[in-house]
Amino acid sequence: MDKPISQIHPTPRARVQAMMEYHPPLGNRDAMRLDFNENTIACSPKVREVLSSISAGHLTRYPERGPVERIVAEHLGLQAEQVVLTNGVDEAIHVLFETFLDAGDELLLPVPTYTMYEVYASATEATAVTVQASNDLQFPFDRLISEITPRTRIIAIANPNSPSGSIATRDQIIQLAQSAPKAVVLVDEAYYHFHGETVVDLIDTLPNVMIARTFSKAYGLAGLRLGVLAGPVALMSWIRRVLSPYSVNSLALACLPPALDDTAYLNWYVAEVLAARADFESALDSAGLRRWPSRANFILVDIGPKHVEFVRLMSNGGVLVRDRSNDPGCDGCVRMTIGTREQMREAVTVLNKTLETLEIAKEKR
Ligand code: PMP
Repeated sequence: MDKPISQIHPTPRARVQAMMEYHPPLGNRDAMRLDFNENTIACSPKVREVLSSISAGHLTRYPERGPVERIVAEHLGLQAEQVVLTNGVDEAIHVLFETFLDAGDELLLPVPTYTMYEVYASATEATAVTVQASNDLQFPFDRLISEITPRTRIIAIANPNSPSGSIATRDQIIQLAQSAPKAVVLVDEAYYHFHGETVVDLIDTLPNVMIARTFSKAYGLAGLRLGVLAGPVALMSWIRRVLSPYSVNSLALACLPPALDDTAYLNWYVAEVLAARADFESALDSAGLRRWPSRANFILVDIGPKHVEFVRLMSNGGVLVRDRSNDPGCDGCVRMTIGTREQMREAVTVLNKTLETLEIAKEKR
């Protein structure tokens, strides 16, 4: 018998029906935020000045991306046609996947890595082929190369990677790009500033390398949602067909030039994080915890079976950290963002107290 009309609902594509909603734990974050790898204090004061000077009239206009894209392109040493601004790197990933991944295609990626690659891939008709890193969580280059097939359309490499903080070398990226000429090699340089090495120059020499950068991390603008996707002109023209001309809002566009200009602030923040990272590594080592070497503004730490209580007690002590236990190969692991030295001294106090309460470090030694 036919259902009554009130019980008939439109249904999405089968792939969407199989998807899970992804809910990062963004609630109640009025504490020390060592959970999302954001800048832990503030953006440049120059950005604040520009923000406060924006008129109501400014907001009535649709945002114009072009002029700011020219500024970003120059900053990256690229041509304007080689760059688009996006609503965070997440939109860049989404649009890239929508542009290139068809039914039967493969997205190749090392895991563990940034969650959104698999989320966006699962909304396409393509298949995600994952290559598990071994215990050291280093970039599984040899196995990745051996998984390239004629169907590989995108290889996604977060460099540095999250949650491990490990890196792929320039040579490995070149070899991957040359071994998969029919695939786009996306090098997601979200944490570039803490690593200091880029392959952005490869855009002029390799036809299939694309780079993503974000303003959410070192620049401290996660709330504005601002990312960059850069690549060879031939690939960017496909991306432009899919990308909304309005997805980067006018506040974000106004804030980007002062953020780029204030190199003194950026350099100060990055230096502060690198110093704090070294101190925090020593504190973790003294506590007897296993950790992975990191080139980013976070460290993955093996807390063991009490990881859930650990995250809860740290939060009770005012420090938010992120449980990464569900990431492949990360059982019992927690990722901690690195803030300033002062913040990390406070974090170490809470950490040591938490370890003592849970009797964790003793077990792990
Ligand atoms: N890539 C990686 C590797 C990330 O860790 C993140 C942030 N969690 C992003 C991209 C997303 O950045 P955005 O805020 O620009 O969307």
